[in-house]
Amino acid sequence: MVNMIRYMNRWRALKPVILYGRKKRSYLTARPFMKPTDFPPEVYIENTNRCNIHCTICPREKLTRPQGVMDLGLFEKIMKEVSMHRDDVTRLHLHNFGEPLLDKDLAKRVKIAKDRGMRHTYFVTNGSLFTEARAREIIEAGLDEMKFSFYGTDPETYNSTMVGLDFNDTISKVSVFFKTRKELGRKNPKVIIQYIGTPTNKCMTKEFTQLVNPFLDRSLGDSVFIAPLYNYGDGRSFIKMGDIARICTFPWRVMVILINGDVVLCAPDYNGDQVIGNVRDKSIHEIWNGDAYRKVREDFRGFKYEKYPVCGKCTVVCDTVSSWND
Ligand code: SF4
Repeated sequence: MVNMIRYMNRWRALKPVILYGRKKRSYLTARPFMKPTDFPPEVYIENTNRCNIHCTICPREKLTRPQGVMDLGLFEKIMKEVSMHRDDVTRLHLHNFGEPLLDKDLAKRVKIAKDRGMRHTYFVTNGSLFTEARAREIIEAGLDEMKFSFYGTDPETYNSTMVGLDFNDTISKVSVFFKTRKELGRKNPKVIIQYIGTPTNKCMTKEFTQLVNPFLDRSLGDSVFIAPLYNYGDGRSFIKMGDIARICTFPWRVMVILINGDVVLCAPDYNGDQVIGNVRDKSIHEIWNGDAYRKVREDFRGFKYEKYPVCGKCTVVCDTVSSWND
């Protein structure tokens, strides 16, 4: 018993030192990604925050902000400024918290971005809304890269994870996309098919790779990506978290613009709880270099996440204690 108390006391005394070491290590690892930039290297434009499904990974049922589609006038305004910095923007995301194909103007937006000289256009989709005509217009608009989220390996695991979709139906839509790209003889978009192991899909990564391999054209750069499960900010509790010990580098790398023009730090802030500005009132350049963003960077550099309700509960900055499959 006495030994146990001694051990506990020693652990209590050592814990701050160990935590300091972990923070220091995180800082050193993150430092290359914390360089000051004049304009965000990656810009997310949320074309819509509507979705046609209820995926168990995504906290859609907690979405309280109005749902809709970004108007084209606002999109054009954003693109006008982003394209003036086209050499600084390495990737333009045409999606955020929603299914981008629900926006009938998606191909038009891709075309506007490409006509304005954007180097890399990209979006993530569940793929369920592809028809041959839709695939054709997106490919011909010049999209550079696309990711399919596909979280199952058979009807049972897929339908219980991507609730509202049907495994066989989505497989046929994904296959229409690949067939259309081949018929058009196009090299783009390059395609990533992503899988995340969850409690509902039994984490069958090997079976997943076998399932999707026949679709991919590796010579064009297509690939499979197995992503780790996360809590989507404060939206889910798959991962039990410990102390805050990591730096999030999003404020140096990414800007997310919601459908109403609000600027937030990242996609996991699905309700727009941490708004930094609005692109209707100020330019992206002004917001990125303004006091609010500067303060966020200063706070993040010092591991001060307490006043950020979403960040303080985010898997990116906290040590993982356990996850559903531990
Ligand atoms: S800590 Fe998490 S919620 Fe906050 S900006 Fe980073 S990724 Fe987003």
